[in-house]
Amino acid sequence: MDILVINAGSSSLKYQFFNMKTHEVLAKGLCERIGIEGSRVKHAAKGKEKFEKEIAMKTHAEAIRVVTQLMTSPEYGVIKSMSEIEAVGHRIVSGGEFFDRSVLVDDEVIEKIAICNVLAPLHNPHHLTGINACKEVMPGVPQVVTFDTAFHQSMPIKAYLYALPYEYYEKYKVRRYGAHGTSHRYVAGRAAQMMGRPVEQLKIITCHLGNGSSITAVDGGRSVDTSMGLTPLAGVPMGTRSGSLDPAILGYVMERENLDIQQMTKILNEKSGVLGISGVSSDFRDLDAAVLEGNKRAEAALDIFVYAVKKYIGAYAAAMGGVDAVVFTAGIGENNARLRERIVDGLGFMGIKLDQEKNKVTGEEKDVTADGSKVKLFVVPTNEELVIALDTEEIVSALRAGK
Ligand code: ADP
Repeated sequence: MDILVINAGSSSLKYQFFNMKTHEVLAKGLCERIGIEGSRVKHAAKGKEKFEKEIAMKTHAEAIRVVTQLMTSPEYGVIKSMSEIEAVGHRIVSGGEFFDRSVLVDDEVIEKIAICNVLAPLHNPHHLTGINACKEVMPGVPQVVTFDTAFHQSMPIKAYLYALPYEYYEKYKVRRYGAHGTSHRYVAGRAAQMMGRPVEQLKIITCHLGNGSSITAVDGGRSVDTSMGLTPLAGVPMGTRSGSLDPAILGYVMERENLDIQQMTKILNEKSGVLGISGVSSDFRDLDAAVLEGNKRAEAALDIFVYAVKKYIGAYAAAMGGVDAVVFTAGIGENNARLRERIVDGLGFMGIKLDQEKNKVTGEEKDVTADGSKVKLFVVPTNEELVIALDTEEIVSALRAGK
């Protein structure tokens, strides 16, 4: 089965086309500035010349048309006709409490995703646009949706409920949903495979550290706690996001700076995190460079980030009553060896020891455990698109088999 995986944003559409026999990506690309002047498409297919061009794309449906034309073009494509796209898998940011797994798209599913728009206003509406665009361009092709929140639906009430008047949960569904679930699920599964043990028997802490960062406690293959909350603003400080803080700070600063709630929320999302602390950058590479030049605020930003991640590792080991493996993934987790080293530094008392030599790795799956460490340490490049493709294959195969 060949599957097209789509991640639709407000003005962008990323895609990967998988051969599910080999799990190979046959083609991938990005449509940018959809509906805006100067829309462009970047496309790369296996064994073909790369393609990049400004092409007018007023809607997501037009973008999907461009993608399918490229995929079937003799020059840049990998398939002869559109009928070779047997199924489409979509990434969806929020499935709220409706979805604890990937599902086949039907009217009811679309309705529920739309209800979750309030929980992911910057993402869900655009995912729906992507689904509708595929329906229009590829009628009859089964579509599956995979939710970033689904993996965390297994959290128990003690992990997901906030200590607020219960009616806010009842009326507005205020609770912890978490994020990056597809990534946490994938890297926990890979770690178990690398250990040669069933994930059901393992306690794993997964650290997805990128522009947005979240840590998850995966007990027996199920998420039992995660650092992001109702929204992806919670948890550790991130590139530009504050992470969790004393909620009273909001009123205190808003009063003094004369800010309304929208302005404050924007500051917490876009002007805080390591950017806010350092005043230098949200990118950890820039912070590393600034530290080398003696910038104390950049140093403090990195210290605060490392300390926060370290505390989550301790907390989640306590929450699960032990830990068998810690996994690092995403931009920072995969590539920043020094930060990995610093995060687990001093955790020898928990049986966590990293091998500095093995840890000299970027963007590659690797066991970086030191000899004698009770807890395994892994670097695992995340692959959310593959998970979406695998879920899509499973659901569409079952559909075909009449299950
Ligand atoms: P997003 O959450 O937007 O997907 P990423 O997972 O790409 O973000 O993470 C971005 C972060 O990863 C940046 O702070 C960047 O410094 C870091 N990063 C990405 N690639 C590298 C690399 N090759 N070496 C060191 N750091 C990297």
